[in-house]
Amino acid sequence: MTVETVVDGETRRTVDFLYPDAPAAERAEAEAFSDVITGELVMTIGSYVVRHGNRLVLFDAGVGSQPTGSFIGGALRSGLLARNIALDEITDVIFTHLHADHIGWATQNGVPFFPNATYRCDRRDWDHFMSPDYEIEPWEAASTHPEFDAAQVRLAPLAGRMEFWEGDAEILPGISAIDAAGHTPGTNAFLLESDGESAMLLGDVVHSIHELLFGWRFPVHHDSQAALDAIARVRALLVDLNIPCSAAHFTGMSWGRVLDSGDRFLWEAIN
Ligand SMILES: [Zn+2]
Repeated sequence: MTVETVVDGETRRTVDFLYPDAPAAERAEAEAFSDVITGELVMTIGSYVVRHGNRLVLFDAGVGSQPTGSFIGGALRSGLLARNIALDEITDVIFTHLHADHIGWATQNGVPFFPNATYRCDRRDWDHFMSPDYEIEPWEAASTHPEFDAAQVRLAPLAGRMEFWEGDAEILPGISAIDAAGHTPGTNAFLLESDGESAMLLGDVVHSIHELLFGWRFPVHHDSQAALDAIARVRALLVDLNIPCSAAHFTGMSWGRVLDSGDRFLWEAIN
């Protein structure tokens, strides 16, 4: 099994805006990742390509071909082509959750963008976001173009070809979902296992390394307390297993390990 990162774009926000509850001394650590010109935290938006056996699995589908408010995307297609990955070679698209910055390339102009892929997500997110009763949240209205980007629009053409799991489950050989509901009703982390080695993709369980280390509250959670509990559970698992992890919005989608020094959690970067 191999894992590659493919960047679609980025969004930038001040650490202050993203984590208003975080203590100033902790926030100062995250500000080291901020853009030198704007002073904002660079939150990359991207996907992971996992090659395993005859599968070519894409985790998340970025912002899509058009910028959506604060989310600047559009590079995913070029990133795949630069790796000699044709769109029709993707066998599976796994959504970590169904927010607009993870489903943008799922379909384009009402047509599945990866024509041979089986699209997969946690059933709880599908039921939540695709319900006729779903109401666009204020942050979505402010940060996206819901008339194009909302799950109900973007994913409608996939309605007959989705495959679902729910919570802890092996989705494909060597790829297991770890229930981390909170950010959305069906948010998951993903354990990758092959030949005695493991790694974890964190989706949007956390949006920055420091949110993971300090357990900061992110302002956009479906269930804030459940999301904080999920961070603590996933972090404990990462420390316990001592395995590499990465997330779709980590600056540069970097990889590292979480260490417990006894006083606090530390990030050991992997180059
Ligand atoms: Zn996201």
